[in-house]
Amino acid sequence: MGTQNRITVAYGDGIGPEIMDATIRIMDAANVGLAYDVIEIGEKVYKAGHKSGISPESWEILRRNKVLLKAPITTPQGGGYKSLNVTIRKSLGLFANVRPFRAYPPFVPSHFPHMDLVIVRENEEDLYAGIEHQQTSEVVQTLKLISEPGSEKIIRYAFEYARAYGRKKVTCMTKDNIMKHTDGMFHRIFNEVKLEYPDIESDHWIIDIGSAVVAARPESLDVVVTLNLYGDIISDIAAEVAGSVGMAGSANTGISHGMFEAIHGSAPDIAGQNIANPSGLLNGAFMMLVHLGKADKAELIQNAWLRTLEDGIHTGDIYRANRSVKKVGTKEFADAVIERLGKKPEKLKPVEYRNGVKVSVNVPEKPAKKKELVGVDVFIDWRASDRDPNVIGDALLNEGSTDRLKLKLISNRGVLVYPEGSPEIFKTDHWRCRYTNPNNEIVNNSDVIELIKKIHEAGFDFIKTEHLYHFDGERGYSLSQGE
Ligand code: NAD
Repeated sequence: MGTQNRITVAYGDGIGPEIMDATIRIMDAANVGLAYDVIEIGEKVYKAGHKSGISPESWEILRRNKVLLKAPITTPQGGGYKSLNVTIRKSLGLFANVRPFRAYPPFVPSHFPHMDLVIVRENEEDLYAGIEHQQTSEVVQTLKLISEPGSEKIIRYAFEYARAYGRKKVTCMTKDNIMKHTDGMFHRIFNEVKLEYPDIESDHWIIDIGSAVVAARPESLDVVVTLNLYGDIISDIAAEVAGSVGMAGSANTGISHGMFEAIHGSAPDIAGQNIANPSGLLNGAFMMLVHLGKADKAELIQNAWLRTLEDGIHTGDIYRANRSVKKVGTKEFADAVIERLGKKPEKLKPVEYRNGVKVSVNVPEKPAKKKELVGVDVFIDWRASDRDPNVIGDALLNEGSTDRLKLKLISNRGVLVYPEGSPEIFKTDHWRCRYTNPNNEIVNNSDVIELIKKIHEAGFDFIKTEHLYHFDGERGYSLSQGE
């Protein structure tokens, strides 16, 4: 990585050009040894007709250089524009989103002066696959897809990151008390991987109480690894409680490529006035320098930046007459950091990166598991007869079953309604009908096709099926409540 000296730079929209200019001036003054290929992304590119905010020529440059330093962009409202961030993340395989949140008291007030937390968020899977379907008049679903290699990759990344950056603990957050198969797999892999890192402490929180810990006791956390949606939410909580939303950076990294940015947006309200704080983008640049094998340069600039904050040289967003010394603009702030290159902070803790820090993960492909089909869930759209479960249940048992696959139960929104559900249960028009083999034999797809035909001939509107499998002899589906 140390040899790669050419990166891609995007100046973005709004305050983007000003904060990028400040960041690049500081990096150049520190002789980071980088050359830049500038690409245009964002509002103008969207409006020129590129729906994802980037042109094919820019893609080429991005792919070739592998590393992108990106200023915020303005996403135009409406018009079917796609999120540029999501496109870049998915297309370049940037599976890890790393967001450090640190408090800088008393220069930036925070309720948690010792907060110094890094959130490692899985970036490619989970509900963000955006696979949604309406299935009946009343019921819509979204698919939460979690893969074993995807989970292992991000969990290993979090431990490797902790080791590389001298951190002591990795905390996993999931909701595996409810989602035993998806979140449960993530937690199980965490428990397996942690055994390979005995030098790093580890623990697990259920995400709801975990979010409360981020909000109420963030100083007790070090590195947090979690699934995509939870990571998105707790990152915003962490940014808010750190008191430094405008100063946080974000890294999106994959095996070979990386995108580094500020977490804030393009702030069109203050664009072009030389008042924006470049610290968020600078923090993204620190992570980029470490990623490029230039940890010494990251350390040099970050310590000068901390010293600037400590000396009370502040942009308008953090300037307060009682604790700041001088209010400066974007350019003057950059000059102040450049003047302090080589100095360390005296009150804030200086940063120290180990040389040659490199976070790499290797997830070897595992052999396929032995898969056995033991039944099928058939989902049916049905709203007749006061929605009496005995009507649909008896009909499916008598006319909508085969010798190989027989109705075992029906649930509605996951709650058992046939046989013997309680009458108080609210019932939608979406019925999950579970079929299994009466003799506990393994079945096959022909059996399922025969069953579906029977259900159709019995006059029921089937809307989807889910196969019930055992993998290496273990049940690969959840039981219905009350089953
Ligand atoms: P924003 O973060 O741009 O601004 C929120 C508030 O914080 C504004 O008052 C702004 O002036 C202030 N602020 C933000 N950054 C600042 C800085 N560096 N220095 C001083 N003050 C700063 O959020 P928004 O207004 O919701 O979004 C504006 C645009 O940015 C939207 O088009 C949105 O889609 C886009 N956006 C882009 C990204 C990205 O490119 N990664 C991220 C978030 C939002």
